[in-house]
Formats: sequence, C-alpha cells, structure tokens
Amino acid sequence: MSKKTTLRGRVFHDQNEATRADDTLSVAPLPVRVVVKRMVREHLLPMKSYLLMSFAAMAAVAATTGALPFLMQRISDEIVVAKNMNSLYYMPLLVIFITSLKAAAEYVSSVSENYIGQRITAELRERMFKALMYADLSWIQRTHTGRFTSSFLGDIGAIQSAAGITIVGLGKNILKCIFLIGGMFYMDWILTIAAAAGLPFAFHQLGRQRKKMVRSSTRVFQESGDLTSFVSQALSGIRVVKAYGREEEETKRVASAIGRTVDFSMQANRVKAASGPITEALSGLGIAAAIFYGGYRGITGSMTPGEFMGFITATMLLYQPLKALAQLQTTLQVGVAAASRVFAVIDNIPEIQNAPGAKPLQVTDGAIRFDNVSFGYTPETLVLKDFSLDIPRKQKVALVGPSGAGKSTVLNLILRFYEPMSGSISIDGQKLSETTVASARAASALVTQDPFLFDDTIATNISYGSEHASREEIEAAARTAVAHDFIMAMPQGYDTVVGEAGNRLSGGQKQRISFARAILRDAPILLLDEPTSALDSKAEALLQEALDRMVDDRTVIMIAHRLSTVKKADIIYVMDSGRIVESGKHEDLLEKNGAYARLYETQFGASEKPARKRTKRTARL
Ligand code: ATP
Repeated sequence: MSKKTTLRGRVFHDQNEATRADDTLSVAPLPVRVVVKRMVREHLLPMKSYLLMSFAAMAAVAATTGALPFLMQRISDEIVVAKNMNSLYYMPLLVIFITSLKAAAEYVSSVSENYIGQRITAELRERMFKALMYADLSWIQRTHTGRFTSSFLGDIGAIQSAAGITIVGLGKNILKCIFLIGGMFYMDWILTIAAAAGLPFAFHQLGRQRKKMVRSSTRVFQESGDLTSFVSQALSGIRVVKAYGREEEETKRVASAIGRTVDFSMQANRVKAASGPITEALSGLGIAAAIFYGGYRGITGSMTPGEFMGFITATMLLYQPLKALAQLQTTLQVGVAAASRVFAVIDNIPEIQNAPGAKPLQVTDGAIRFDNVSFGYTPETLVLKDFSLDIPRKQKVALVGPSGAGKSTVLNLILRFYEPMSGSISIDGQKLSETTVASARAASALVTQDPFLFDDTIATNISYGSEHASREEIEAAARTAVAHDFIMAMPQGYDTVVGEAGNRLSGGQKQRISFARAILRDAPILLLDEPTSALDSKAEALLQEALDRMVDDRTVIMIAHRLSTVKKADIIYVMDSGRIVESGKHEDLLEKNGAYARLYETQFGASEKPARKRTKRTARL
C-alpha cells in the first residue's frame, strides 16, 4: 500500500472498524468443500438437463482439442515427410470437420454455462432479498444497509463468476488436460514426464498465492461495503450535509474509502495476475525440456518428425487449460468467501416466528394489555422495566413523556417488531406470542414518526398494504386524512410520483399521505407515533376532527409531544424511563399536579409558535 493512501486511509479507518465489529456479514469463509457441495445440491442439481448439455458440449470441446496434436502428427508425417497425395485431400476435410465440431460445441457450452450462471445469480438474489425482508429488525439493524447492498450485488456477482469458472474449469479444462496429457502419454510417456517436471512447483506457488488472495478480497468486500454505505448515507442526508457545509469532508471520506478499495483490489489483482505468468513460465520450461529431449530423439532417429510435432503441439495446447485451472483456485476461493457471506444472510432464522400451534389473532374489541413486560434493544439496557398497561377496548389513549422514555418502543412491541424479554402482551385476551406474526401485524395500522413513502404515485403509496382498494376508497381515505385538496392541486393529482422517500413533498404532506394509508388499511387498532408533528395548526385541527370521527369503533394509541394534541384522549398515560408514572384524563392529571402537569407547564410556559416551526424544519431535514 502506498504511503499516501495509507495516510488517506487512516482518516476514517477506526470508525469503519467500529461499525463493523458486530457486523452480520463479518463471517469467516466456510470450507471450499462445504460451499461447493451446497451449490451443487441447491443450485446445480435442479438444472440437471442444462448441466448435462453443458458437460456434453465441454467434453466435445476437450475431445476435439485432444485430437489436434494427433492431426498435427499425421499431417507432418503423411503430407510433409511421406508426401502422400491422398492425405493431402482428406486431411484438410478432417481439419474442417474437427474445428467445426469444436466451434459448435464451444457455442453450446458457452451459452449453457452462461445460462446456469445467470440462474444461480437470480436464485441467490431472490433468496437473499427474501431473507432480508423476513429477517428480524434487530438483526437487520446490526449491519449497515450499504453492506447488504454491496453483498447483494458484488458477492453474488463473485459467486456467479466463480461458479462459471469452476464449472468450465472442471468440465472443460480438466477434460482438455486429461485428453492432452493422455495423448502425450500415449505418444511418449518419458517425454511427458520430462515436460511436466515443473508442475508440482507451480502448484505449490499457486497455493501460497491463494491465501493472500482470500485476505485481500475479503478486505475489498469490506471496503466496497463501506463505500456503498458512505455514498448512500451522504446522498440520503444531502440536506444535512449542505446545511452543515460538510461536502468537502464527505468527499474526503468517500475518496478515502475509494483509495482503500483500490489498494486492496490491486493486492488481489497482483496475486491473481501472478498465477498466469507462473504457469506460463513453468510451461515454457516444460516445452523447452520437450524440445530438447524430443529433438534429441528425433535427431537420433527414435522419433518421427510427426510424433515430435504432435507432442510439441499437445504441450502448447496444454498451457491454456492449465493456466485456467491455476486461476480457478483463486477465483474459487474468492467465490467461497462471498458465498459464506451470502449464506450467512440466507441461513438466518428470524427469532420472531410463529410458535408451534400459533393461531391467527381474532380482534373483537381491540383491548391491549402489557403484563410486566421487560424489554431492551440490547440485553444490557432495559428500555421497559416490568411495564404494565391496560388499554380498554375501543379507547383513544395517548402516551406522553420525555424523549427516550420508551413510547415508540411500546408500539414496536404491539407490532411484534421485537419480542419482550419477559412478561406478555395480549390483545383481546390472546397472548401475542401464541398468535401468528402476520395476524398480529394485520391488526394494527401504523403511522410512524418519520413517514416513509415509496418512489411511486400518491395513489400507490396510499394503497400500500391495501392493494385491492378502488380509486374511490383511496380518495375517501385521503379526504379523511385532510390530504385530498393538496393532492388534487398537484399536476397529476393522485398519479403524481412523490420522488425518492417522498422528497418531492413537504413533511406535513407526507404525514397526511401516511395517515391516509393507515386509514385505508381499516385495522381495528390505530398506532399513531407523532402523526401531527409536521402539520400546521389548521391541518392538525382538521386531522384531529377526522380522528375523532373515525376512532369511535377502534382502539387508538397516539404518541404526541404537543400536549394540545392529546387533551381529548380518553386516557393519557405518562411514561418516564420505561414506566407509566401517571394516568388519567387531561383535567384530572392537571389537578394532580404531578409529572403531566409539569410537562404541560413546560410547554405552555413557552411560546408554542416557534416550537412548531422548529419541529417542521427538523422533520424536513
Ligand atoms: P421520542 O419521544 O424521542 O420518540 P420515545 O419515548 O419514543 O422517544 P423510544 O424510541 O421508545 O423512545 O426509545 C427508548 C430508548 O430505546 C431510547 O433510549 C433509545 O435510544 C433506545 N432505542 C430505540 N430504538 C432503538 C434501537 N433500534 N436500537 C437500540 N436502541 C434503541
């Protein structure tokens, strides 16, 4: 590594190491045998017919290559030496026949091998994406999304190339070597041993190179994962980057990751590039030995010129498959390291699964109960401690309390994004742990604190999760969410595309679309995590009205920092450090003069207007 790059590389190096520490993708490579067996069983055997066709074609290529030295031998002996006119006529025809056969077989083998490679890539990508979609949130959050993207694209590409090269290597190059070396033995075994004298040394050298190659390629993977992470992070946070004038630093950080990727790629490439010349140099030695000993036998009369020419042709033809086999080792190792990472994702078994005998949740009233629940995102830090909460049926309740008190965590647990460490949560008397995950999630509609929209039309975003909804139903939901008017004011109305993560809309507009999505889902439980934080007072009042109208027949849990939003709630629960410290109606709580009254005083002691402005700006950033 150059001094300059080492220095550049160091700028953010420690941070990279730190985020990688508990990385899901930091796995040691599996043994080659294990990976190859699994690839054969899961991906190659189901494509038996293509594999057979490919091997048949490769065998034909190898056999026709093996025939060339014999052809050379006969051409030299019969045409050049014996001057046989008959041979002059049929030998060219034989050459045309063999080379045409070889060309056709090469075509079939190349197309079928390519098809197999593409199918393997497609299958692995599908399996990996599915595994990521079904993985537990806690597991996904351990690794930066950039690394998953990098593995999804880069690792699976490396597996495709390793699988292709291995299949061709085993099917074609090994067969070619067998045919050529067999032919050479048949022509002259002593000469064959002389020509192959350098091979053991070559393989020993290649083995040493291989280990270096695996080390460098693992670092290349890590660095490209960082690179993807930095680029996606800087682009999705571009407003913050600009607002804080960090363009230069972000550019440096990416440049440093690029520098490290180049360094490690070059290390890997140097090792890979060395494997060809090593075989080439040693096969040069073999050819020299064959020329010397074969030439001596020719001069002394114990070998015909044709035999000599045929043997030299075979030795030269042997070079290409031998070189390919030498490189196969390194490519295979890189593919195995990549496959180990991909399998780590594919093999992940989500912890949040349907328990044996789990039944679908039947929601009749929507009464929710937390019974001594303890939970922490990490085992060391509990966010909820012996948390108990009783939400009566079809009530509109509010969760308030200081930031970090655990309010959103309560919603996360109702949705089974995470499982409690102890205690139980039940809905209408059915423990969530004994119901199916999908039915528990279907019981609720969620509006998150930071609404996420897909880069699609407004209509598609509203009907996400309710795909069969008609345009009328979508519009009705948007009307309830006070979104219809601003949607209609847009050039394409409901067909307006909202841009990446909805960045062509304001924070308040995104919030209302997300609210319309929850309304359309028509679930018996509505979970609202700060649903009005980015709205102006008029929109908030309208939304509150809509909420009052629609919540009569469902349970609503609303988290809100602005206490004006929760005044009308049937019950207000005040949370602090993972516990409920107070509960009751707004007026009763004020009278109590406890935690709620203090919160209320803090808010209404300060001017509400600037606070609202701040919230809106923060939400947009
Ligand atoms: P706010 O009002 O600011 O949204 P909150 O009361 O909703 O806060 P939670 O989001 O439930 O608080 O977070 C409670 C605690 O759990 C916080 O200390 C937070 O740092 C931690 N926490 C939240 N999500 C995660 C996570 N995915 N991984 C680790 N810790 C988390």
